[in-house]
Amino acid sequence: MNRPRITIFDTTLRDGEQSPGCSMNVQEKLRLAQQLDRLGVDVIEAGFPIASDGDFEAVQRIAASVRRPIIAGLARACAGDVDRAWQALQGAAHPRIHVFLATSDIHLKYKLRITRERCLEQARDAVRHATSLFPKSVCADVEFSPEDATRTDIPFLCQVVEAVIAAGATTVNIPDTVGYTMPEEYGQLIRTLREKVAGIEKATISTHCHNDLGLAVANSLAGVQNGARQVECTINGIGERAGNASLEEIVMAMRVRPDRYPYETAVASEQLYSSSQMLAEITRVPVQPNKAITGRNAFAHEAGIHQDGMLKNPLTYEIMTPQSVGVPDSRLVLGKHSGRHALALRCEQLGHQFERRELDEVYRRFVVLADRIKKVQDSHLLELIQDVTSGAVSSGEVGSQGNKLPPAAAVTLARAVSAAANLIEAHPAHVSGGAGQTTLLIPFTDRHSEQHSDQEEYLWGV
Ligand SMILES: [Zn+2]
Repeated sequence: MNRPRITIFDTTLRDGEQSPGCSMNVQEKLRLAQQLDRLGVDVIEAGFPIASDGDFEAVQRIAASVRRPIIAGLARACAGDVDRAWQALQGAAHPRIHVFLATSDIHLKYKLRITRERCLEQARDAVRHATSLFPKSVCADVEFSPEDATRTDIPFLCQVVEAVIAAGATTVNIPDTVGYTMPEEYGQLIRTLREKVAGIEKATISTHCHNDLGLAVANSLAGVQNGARQVECTINGIGERAGNASLEEIVMAMRVRPDRYPYETAVASEQLYSSSQMLAEITRVPVQPNKAITGRNAFAHEAGIHQDGMLKNPLTYEIMTPQSVGVPDSRLVLGKHSGRHALALRCEQLGHQFERRELDEVYRRFVVLADRIKKVQDSHLLELIQDVTSGAVSSGEVGSQGNKLPPAAAVTLARAVSAAANLIEAHPAHVSGGAGQTTLLIPFTDRHSEQHSDQEEYLWGV
């Protein structure tokens, strides 16, 4: 059977990165983008170029070095933003401009202070402008998001979607910006768009669901069942407030239950765990232990009756294998007799790919450590990796004389230990700032402020 192919649009570096406590520098974003490439996502939303010089640079550098996936840059619906996004995407092999504008009455009235007519016109103009930037020889790749779509008057939403498709949008994304919708309702909304919007077949319909009621994944899947062919999601489900739809949960739901969700993605599921680990390590936001797919308890069986069943036949309690999502085989203990290959594999599973020379250094320190402590746990390894990548002194040496460390190395080591502890210990993941927080997260630059009037205050996207 030919299953419909679902485009996986990863927005960890944009929507995810905007959430409090998850900011990343350019180097970290680049490293994560390379991992997303290995993971096999179709689109990487690399940032919001006009938001800051750092975001601009991150999009530019990712565009230059990550060549397989589409690289998207976010822009509000105005020429200044669209131009800046296009400028950042210049070096991309496959650029996409992602334009957004709120369409719900509550956003139009209180946030943007514009009428529906003005909103429609602005959306159409921005998409037309974005489309015009692509050279004639290539198909323009422009996505439009009516922000707060799920609280938008449905006939008006249909009107906007129809107008942006006529203006050249190739993807229309339907954000549940505030995490308000329910699965049947969201599925129905996607179906209505397919029935009512003239020209809808020319564009890909996309989902973008927030998790305020814990329904982001369920809503995204309902969207897919009703004709959406792109899903926007993030690693570990990070994102504004309660987060976004979790990439790993969506991919594995389709893989474990093809009878209910007969769809294909290009994601290499064996890379899910290392992607999750890498993100947790970079942001120092630990994965909640009971997180589906990537939490450290996701495959742990403690109850006696479960262990008994597992030993007799893993199918008694296991709907997917740890290997299928890349969880390291815990029976494989690393010790001083472990080879370079086993070490490299475990490093990869923990989210670290090394060049030959770096691996030599990790291995050298590993052997010193293994000689001292016999059994090297993942936490030790993460600490050691952090030392190598930050150029600190050998952990084999610092471990025995911790209080004699030079201050910089002590700080590095303390950071490494706390990062490793975060990954290992049972701390529930939390994001600072609770539900309802509407703090402006990104300062707006003066240079662009005249162009946006009221809209300049609202830079956090869909
Ligand atoms: Zn969002």
